[in-house]
Parts: sequence; structure tokens; C-alpha cells
Amino acid sequence: MPFVKYLKCSRCGRIYRLEEKPVMCKTGDLGRLDIVYDYEAIKEVFDPGKLSGRETTMWRYYELLPVSDRKYIVSLGEGWTPLIKAKRLAEKLGLRNLYLKDETRNPTGSFKDRCMSVSVSMALEFGYKRLVTASSGNAAAALAAYGARAGLEVYAFVPDFAGYGKIAQLLFYGAKVFRVKWSEAEDPTVKMMRLVVEKYGFYPSPSFGPFNPYQIEGPKTIAFEITEQLGWRVPDQVFVPTGAASLLTGVYNGFRDFNILGYIDRYPRLVAVQPTGNMPFVRAWLEKQDPDKIRPWEKPPETIATGLEDTYPWDGDAGLRALYTTNGYGVAVTDDEILEAMRLLASLEGIFAEPSGAAGLAGLMRALREGSVDRDETVVVLVTGHGLKDPDIVKKTAGDAPVIEPSLEDLRKAMREKYGVEL
Ligand SMILES: *Cc1c(COP(=O)(O)O)cnc(C)c1O
Repeated sequence: MPFVKYLKCSRCGRIYRLEEKPVMCKTGDLGRLDIVYDYEAIKEVFDPGKLSGRETTMWRYYELLPVSDRKYIVSLGEGWTPLIKAKRLAEKLGLRNLYLKDETRNPTGSFKDRCMSVSVSMALEFGYKRLVTASSGNAAAALAAYGARAGLEVYAFVPDFAGYGKIAQLLFYGAKVFRVKWSEAEDPTVKMMRLVVEKYGFYPSPSFGPFNPYQIEGPKTIAFEITEQLGWRVPDQVFVPTGAASLLTGVYNGFRDFNILGYIDRYPRLVAVQPTGNMPFVRAWLEKQDPDKIRPWEKPPETIATGLEDTYPWDGDAGLRALYTTNGYGVAVTDDEILEAMRLLASLEGIFAEPSGAAGLAGLMRALREGSVDRDETVVVLVTGHGLKDPDIVKKTAGDAPVIEPSLEDLRKAMREKYGVEL
């Protein structure tokens, strides 16, 4: 029993029913097809009091996801990631109630598994055999894994600078991968994906707006889980690393659904975090740009946060509106701040994140310095991707471990030289 009422184009307002198997708006104006649910029907069957008996994946919220029949679900156990109370980090930052939503625990190591679990399930429901994506790496790796699980063919265009951890995943999951050279501001991976969709009719499965209306439903479940894990309380602020602003919008949509259904009665302030080397969305926020006319970044991205390199925030329109509705804001952080956040996350809380995955924490640290967070507030930081995704960055910044002869003498020497500790 599907709970989707219809899909509506965010640009032209055209309505599609799910039976039409819509993927992109036919008018070609690159609007996003926003999914509208039948909340009354959902209320009749979905009982938040009975969730504890359900599966410990994001599919525990099945009625709030677009798949029409459970038989189409392609799952690797994504979601229901821990919400960790960060005591040592909180103490260091002077906060009382800090939580980390650890998305590194997802099957392929990033929250993109939520997106691609939904997207591939819909491809299966619609009968597609070939899927194509444009991605900085994580969404492609997730698509490749879910494609493998469903027996569907995956084509992936990634930037030539994508982290090797992600390329390695893609190759082993059996995707056909292409590293595309990036010399102009326009994202060349999106260009290639669009060419292939137009020419060969593949199912477009990137992790952003106008090309794939279903994936954005995955990150909704992050908001559901945070609410449920906090005992049906809404946090005060949620920090979200932002590229295309699809994650941000998805998380907003989750809180929106629970508000409409009456399970909660307010929103957390959503905070979008971008690197200073590519911040078209945060710039749009700072400059109060018209949500429908966000200016793309003028140059190729320059940041170690390779998961946040979208020069055009495809879901920025909805993302900006989410900031307005929730009284949220945008924060930009430098690569050095991201590295510091990576170190603190790993050394104080035992969570190893890639730069994009730690950007949310860097944003919180910046917001604290700017006085935007009160120490008594309940703050949730999304930690979105695993540190092993990008071993090159790690080596460049953390260096290597000293090689020693198996002797105490050598150990003492290396200990002194590398770690500054006298044994
Ligand atoms: C994709 C990604 C993001 C940003 O998500 P958007 O929807 O592009 O804003 C953040 N962190 C990681 C690790 C990602 O892979």
C-alpha cells in the first residue's frame, strides 16, 4: 500500500502520480519532483508507540518512504545509526548536551546509503536495469553497492580527484567507473550523467534534486531517528555538512513529516556548514539570495572536503527555505578547522570521519566562537562519512607511523622523536 499521494514539480507545479513512474519533470525545466504523502492514511497504520518492535534499519519508517511494496526494498541494513552522547568532546567545547549521529556506521561508510537504498528500490520497482550517477564518490559507492545487491548495472562518473577509498569501493562493487577531468566551474560529472540519461535512457541516480526525486527521502529518516533516539524530543540545533543541500533538505523534510503527523511540535534550528573553498549555498544564505536564483560557485572547488564539492547546490532552493523555516543559519569553515574537527572527533570520541564527515563539527566550533550556540542547548552534529574513505588526505595530514627495529632502545628513540614522550 503506497502512501504517496502525488509528486509535484518545484518549478512548474506539474503533478505526477507514482504509477507514471516519474523520474524527472517532463518539461525539462530541471525542477525537483517533491513527494507529497497521504498523512491521514499514514496516521492510521503508523504508530510511533510501536516502533520499538520494528527492524533496526531506516525501513522501520516504511510508511514514510515512497516504495509501494516491501518486495522492492533493496537493503544492506542502512540507518538506525547510534546517536552518541559525546561527553569528552562536550567538555572540551563547553557544552552540556552534545550528540553525534554516527553515519560512518552505514554499510558503505556514509549516509548516502540511506539515499541509494531508496533510489535503487525505486529503480527496481520501475523496472530499470541500468543506473547512472554523478558523484564525488560516496553516493556512487553507495549506488554501486545497492546496485550489486539488486543485480542492476551501475555507471559512475566521479571527479578525477575523488578519494581512492571511494574508487576502490566502486571498482569492487562492480561499477563501471570513470574519473572525469574537472577544469571549469560546471560539474563535469553531472554533465556526463545528463548526456548518458538523454542518449541511453538510464535511470539517473545521483544524490541530488532534479534528477532523482526519491533519494532525498532517505535522509528524512535521520530526523526520525534523532527524534526517536532522544525520546521524542526535538534538539535545539542540528549541524549538517552541506554540498548540494540535499541532506539538509532531507533532514528538514523528516522533521516536517513528524510535525505534520503531530509527533513533535517544533523544529530544531538547522545549520548548514560548507568549506570556504566551495560555499555557494552558505554564500547564498549570507547574501540573502533568492532561493530560486542561487549563484553557482565560480571556480572548481578547493577543499579537502571532497564530499562537499558541489559548485551548484541543486537542492539549495529547498535548503534555504529550510533555514528560514527553522530559524537556522549557514556557517563556512576552513580546511584547517575541518582537520582540527577530524582530530578531536577521533581522539576524544573514537569516531574516525573523513573531512566532509567532520565538517559539521567544525561548523559547531565556529558557531560557538560566534556566539550562536548556548551551552545548555541540545546540539546534534551529523558525522556523515568514514575516515577510511580518503586515505590520501589522512596520510598528508597525520603523516605516517615511525618504523622501528623490535627493540626497546629503538622504541624510546622513536617515541621521543615522533610523539615527544619520554618512556
Ligand atoms: C554528500 C555528502 C555530504 C553532503 O550532502 P549534500 O546532500 O550534497 O549536501 C556530506 N558529507 C558526506 C560525507 C557526503 O558524502
